[in-house]
Order: sequence, then structure tokens, then C-alpha cells
Amino acid sequence: MSTESRVIIVGAGPAGLAAAEVLAEKGIKTLLLDENRQPGGQLLRFAPPAAGRESLYRNSVGRKGRSLLACLQSSTIDVLTSAQVIGFEAPDRLWVDAGTGGVRELRFEALLLATGAREKFLSFPGWTLPGVISSGGAQLLIKGSGVLPAPEMVIGGCGVLPLALAGEVLKNKGRVQAVLDESALADSLGLLRLLPRQLPRVLQGGLGLGRLLLAGRRVRHRTRIVQARGDKRLEEVVTAGIDARGRVVPGTEREIETGSLAMGYGFAPNIELAREVGCDLLFTPDKGGWAVRVDECQQSSQALVFAAGEPTGVAGGNKAALEGAIAGLSIVSRLKGRPGRQERRNLEVLQAGLQKELRFGAFLNRLTRIPEAGYRVIPPETVVCRCEQVRQAEILKAIGRGLNTVPGVKKATRCGMGICQGRTCGPILTEILRVHPDLPDAEPALFSVRPPLKPVSVGDLAEADV
Ligand SMILES: Cc1cc2nc3c(=O)[nH]c(=O)nc-3n(C[C@H](O)[C@H](O)[C@H](O)COP(=O)(O)OP(=O)(O)OC[C@H]3O[C@@H](n4cnc5c(N)ncnc54)[C@H](O)[C@@H]3O)c2cc1C
Repeated sequence: MSTESRVIIVGAGPAGLAAAEVLAEKGIKTLLLDENRQPGGQLLRFAPPAAGRESLYRNSVGRKGRSLLACLQSSTIDVLTSAQVIGFEAPDRLWVDAGTGGVRELRFEALLLATGAREKFLSFPGWTLPGVISSGGAQLLIKGSGVLPAPEMVIGGCGVLPLALAGEVLKNKGRVQAVLDESALADSLGLLRLLPRQLPRVLQGGLGLGRLLLAGRRVRHRTRIVQARGDKRLEEVVTAGIDARGRVVPGTEREIETGSLAMGYGFAPNIELAREVGCDLLFTPDKGGWAVRVDECQQSSQALVFAAGEPTGVAGGNKAALEGAIAGLSIVSRLKGRPGRQERRNLEVLQAGLQKELRFGAFLNRLTRIPEAGYRVIPPETVVCRCEQVRQAEILKAIGRGLNTVPGVKKATRCGMGICQGRTCGPILTEILRVHPDLPDAEPALFSVRPPLKPVSVGDLAEADV
């Protein structure tokens, strides 16, 4: 690993790769870090060609991905995979755990945080049963390993991921028993308004829908997963219709016998590293919740830190790649002085393209917004924090005792104290507090962060080269 890089990029998804491409062109020594085993991030995950899935490389995402990945051949770009950044020693030094040789301290002149997003959830009784997985997890199996989670499955939640997943399951010769969507059909049709500017995406959605219709299935809109039942693993999913305010309509409950359920409720930006280094955040529901505040050059409130892609607001791979390229150009200007006319022109073109993607992102986030009633009616026996097995009843009890803030609930119940450090339950708890009828002025809040931000072995810490 090079210790002489001037720039460090955390995250080798479309945002990080697009920045690396710009920095490679300018010959700036850069280190690209990613905790995954391969660069590419969430979007550019490909099953190995040996698995007979070369066709994936031929679609537009594959082509774009391949061209971005090509920049990694540059002699000025070092890539370190299976390496997680776990915190900061100082505003210009971070800690990375690369699995061997212990935790290392690395210095940078500029840092780009391109750490992506994670899935959001609405907890319901039984969501922790074996057989229930996230839509993203199911996609990972299909795209990354070429295997289906199960021969037949129920898919639910909201947004575009359930439909995309249904399309992939069918394409891979699986059976889709039902697709359930919290949102109304009219909400999804809003995508048609974006048609002239987002044609490939609308067509992609149409393809998934077409496959579903051909298989004799349709999306059941305004339908919630209210329970997953089973003895030792999932055996049955209970669904119910919901009204425009998100309340279950009595008498609409239905049972579906199944051994596999995939669920997804949109995405939340990964902002922990940004918080740890002191970047300002903004809470914007149209961006997926808390996101890093950046200026038009992707500069954060911290002098050396830039952010691009999902951490500045969830809006998809195109927006991530545009922001990555903008951040790359801004970092070049920072390190090499005032940009020339061509660079300024490039920056303007990228910034103009970004506006269209931000509108698309706002639409996506509205589509995945769960009505307040969804969080208000989580039954008391439901596990909210999976790691610490904290149930909704304990959270409501803590709120009743006056511990009605995110840190208060955490201290009272251990919610968010487990191995995932609140990544899964954090957004759920934020919403539970935000919509609680006794807390009308509750501000959306976050769990505190402190290093190590990711699980690290004691051995790696003991060997730390810091
Ligand atoms: C589960 C999931 C499934 C998705 N499926 C689809 C889909 O089917 N179609 C679609 O169009 N979009 C999908 N998206 C959205 C799409 O992946 C993103 O819009 C796009 O990848 C954003 O690019 P990015 O560079 O911002 O982030 P990402 O591609 O997510 O890349 C971020 C990278 O940062 C790395 N990272 C994060 N924290 C650290 C750390 N501390 N140390 C080291 N590395 C770190 C991660 O390993 C990751 O590789 C999905 C997103 C998720 C989360």
C-alpha cells in the first residue's frame, strides 16, 4: 500500500471511481479504499463470468461500470480492498483496518467520502426470522454469486428496488409469489413525468413490470407486510391493505404461504465517517434523511473533506458518478491551483447534469417515504433493534419515562448498542420518535458515533501501527 498518496477516496462505487478517473487523468497520487473484496460498490457488482453471466457486462450499467473501473489501471491510483476505514486520528489522518498487519494510520491532503448508502426498514413481528432477508441482500446473492435466495419468494416494501428484484428473480428462472408495495399506484406513475429525461430508467422499470405481468403477477399497491410467521423459520407472510394515511384497513389481512420474503424500504446515506470527522449534516427527507452538507464543488464543511454519491443524498448511480467527477475536479483545483477554462467548462456541464439527477432522487425518496402511521402502529412485541433484541414495548416504555430522545432511548434500552452500531435500527428509532403523538416537537436525531466505526478484531487493534 502506498503511504505517499495525496488524496484518499473512501468507497469504490460509482462516486469514488468517477473521482479516481479524474484524478488519474491529472496524475495525482490517490489511494482508493473499499471494505468490499472488489471495487464497484453496490451498483457494479457482477457475478464472475465463470458463472455464465457475462451478459450483465453488456447492459448500460455494465458498460459505464467497466469504463469507470478501467481507471484503476493507472499507475497513480492505488487500490486497497477489504479495507475498512474505522475513524480519524486528526482532521488529516484516518485509521484503516485492512485485515492483515493491524490498523494503519494514513495521512491525506484531501479526502473524498464516497461511502454509499444502506437499506432502511419498517420493522414488523417476525422480520428477524430466518427466511426473511432484505431486497439488497437478495440482490447481492443474485448479482454477486449468481444464486437465487429461494426458488420462490414474496417481495415487499416500497420504492423501485422490490420491482427491480422481482424482475431479476424472474429473469433467473425463480418464481415470484407476490410483490407488495406500500405506496399507491398513482405515486409510481409520477415517474412518467420524468420520462423525457429518465428514459433508460423508466424503460428498466417497465421491463421488470413486463416480466412480472408475463408471469401472471401484478404489484399489489397500498399493501403492507404486517407479520412474518413461522416456528423456527419463515412459513407464512401476513399482508394487509393500507389507506392513504398508512393505516391498516381492517378485514384486508391475507396470508401467503412462503419460505422466503425479501423486503426493502428505500435507502439512508452512510454518514458515520462524515460525522466522525466533523462534517455538517442536513436532514432532508427528499434525500433519504440525514445527509452530508456540501457546496456546488462537493466540499463539506471540513476544509480537507469532500463528499460525493449517496452520503450527500440518495439519488442513484448516475448522480453518484456526476458528483464523484465534480469532487475529482474540485480536488485537482485544490491541489494544483486555479482550474483552466476547459476544467471550468467541464465542471459546469457536470453540475448542470446533476440537477436532473437530483430531481429523480427526490422522486425516489418520496416513493419510499413510509406514512407516519407505519411507525406509529409497530406492535409492542416487535423487535426493533435486532442486535440487542430490543422490542418496541421497551422503547415506548422509555419514552413514557421521559427518555424521549435517541440517546435517551439508547441508554435506557441498549437499542443501537449492538455490533451494527445502530445502522439498521437508527433510522427506525428516529422515525418512531418523530411520529410519536406525545412528542410533537421531536427533532430528527441520530445515535452518537465514535471509533472504531466498524467491528475490528482485538488482534488488529493490538497490532495497530499508529
Ligand atoms: C443494497 C443496495 C442495493 C441496490 N440496488 C440497486 C439496483 O438494483 N439498481 C440501482 O440502480 N441502484 C441500486 N442501489 C443504489 C446504487 O447502488 C447506488 O445509487 C450507487 O451505487 C451509488 O454509488 P455510490 O458510489 O454513492 O455508493 P456505493 O456504490 O454504495 O459505494 C460505496 C462504497 O463505499 C464502501 N464503504 C462504505 N463505508 C466504508 C468504510 N468505512 N470503509 C471502506 N469502504 C467503505 C462500500 O463498501 C461501497 O463499496 C442499491 C443500493 C443498495 C445499498
